[in-house]
Amino acid sequence: MKKEIMSTEDFEPPSTGEEINASPCFEWPNENPKVIPILRVSNVPRFRCGLRTSSFRKKFFPDASFSEWNDWRWQLRNRIRDAHALSRLITLSADETEAITAKGQLPLAITPYYASLLDKDNPRQPIRRTVVPVTTEQIVSPGEAEDPLGEEHDTPVPGLVHRYPDRVLFLVTDFCSTYCRYCTRSRMVGNGKKEGFDVRRWERAIAYIESSPSVRDVLLSGGDPLTLSDESLEWLLSRLRRIPHVELIRIGTKVPVVLPQRIMPSLTRMLKKYHPLWMSIHVTHPDELTAETSQACERLADTGIPLGSQTVLLSGINDDVPTMKRLVQGLLKIRVKPYYLYQCDPILGSAHFRTPVEKGLEIIQGLRGHTTGYAVPTYVIDAPGGGGKIPLLPDYVAGRDGDDLLLRNYEGHIYRYPDSTGPVGREGCAPFLDRGATEDLRL
Ligand code: SF4
Repeated sequence: MKKEIMSTEDFEPPSTGEEINASPCFEWPNENPKVIPILRVSNVPRFRCGLRTSSFRKKFFPDASFSEWNDWRWQLRNRIRDAHALSRLITLSADETEAITAKGQLPLAITPYYASLLDKDNPRQPIRRTVVPVTTEQIVSPGEAEDPLGEEHDTPVPGLVHRYPDRVLFLVTDFCSTYCRYCTRSRMVGNGKKEGFDVRRWERAIAYIESSPSVRDVLLSGGDPLTLSDESLEWLLSRLRRIPHVELIRIGTKVPVVLPQRIMPSLTRMLKKYHPLWMSIHVTHPDELTAETSQACERLADTGIPLGSQTVLLSGINDDVPTMKRLVQGLLKIRVKPYYLYQCDPILGSAHFRTPVEKGLEIIQGLRGHTTGYAVPTYVIDAPGGGGKIPLLPDYVAGRDGDDLLLRNYEGHIYRYPDSTGPVGREGCAPFLDRGATEDLRL
């Protein structure tokens, strides 16, 4: 069994004397927390800290002990929320400063941990662009919409999207520890416009699921469900597990990437009680695959939770084959199966993030056959207007020649497959290389 390296500081932070609210509807955090919940667990293994993050902590948060830094609640309390706080850590461009101070947009929030990964001087650094606003966010382009996927239309009760026959999307919170500038749900996360996500809201959604026997799969999302307290999350999971027709529960989260300290043994012990539980982790760039994220995924995988990744294709951030290959291969190393590659949804102000669809196809073509099949995600467009996810593949069918199907392999060579079900077609059915005919047969 692998041993975790522990420092002498590797323990939970001391109590501050305040009590955690035991109500099932308690939801940590809110944007202005008045109560600081306490964890009482002690002697639990904590995270190894990457070198970059470690020196960042010492430089910018010299008063934070190693233990505090590794406490996810400390990370939440110390999120970077404005230009002044961020300019202490990185050199903001004039455009970034202007964008951060603009009103009426997705708020800024970055955990100190994730801030430690940002390039201090380069506003074009891929992961910096995903969390630091720029003024082009304020430009609305044709085809963009607040709710491009038409989720509101498929919402039978608040916070629940029922689009596909056998599964629902349960939006359990509007809070994220770090806000992604291209968030599909920027209309409802972090802006306090919606009514609070409280237990009454959850009860209505649960009642809907109870009364819908076709629903066998519930995806918890938001916002980020792993920012809820263990108590709130367990309350939800236990309620859902009591519904006989709910076979599967999934959690969509970016926490292992932006707040890996949240993946505590107390959390994984609790999650383990509610199998089958699957998790989709939102990962964007290989620079996010740090020692901390790797440990978080390791803990989740050791808990028996199958891990998949969801990645949004973003212009200038991850839209080239070498970057995506590093990402998907790195994910397999930390036991995460690349699951979906999403074409960026046309939310308001997203033009600077969106790529042509050819880019996505080119990336899939650059992965398929060139690396492990498990590393190749499914490239999808979530159809605007509520059509659901539609998979896209490069065209590997080169045409037909009589009964033969002509197929193009990953190197561009043409092969024949005898695509006939009759007795004649089954004769000599071994596919063969038709290199000589490549030019003639390409359609
Ligand atoms: S973590 Fe997900 S829900 Fe939260 S801001 Fe990012 S994309 Fe949106």
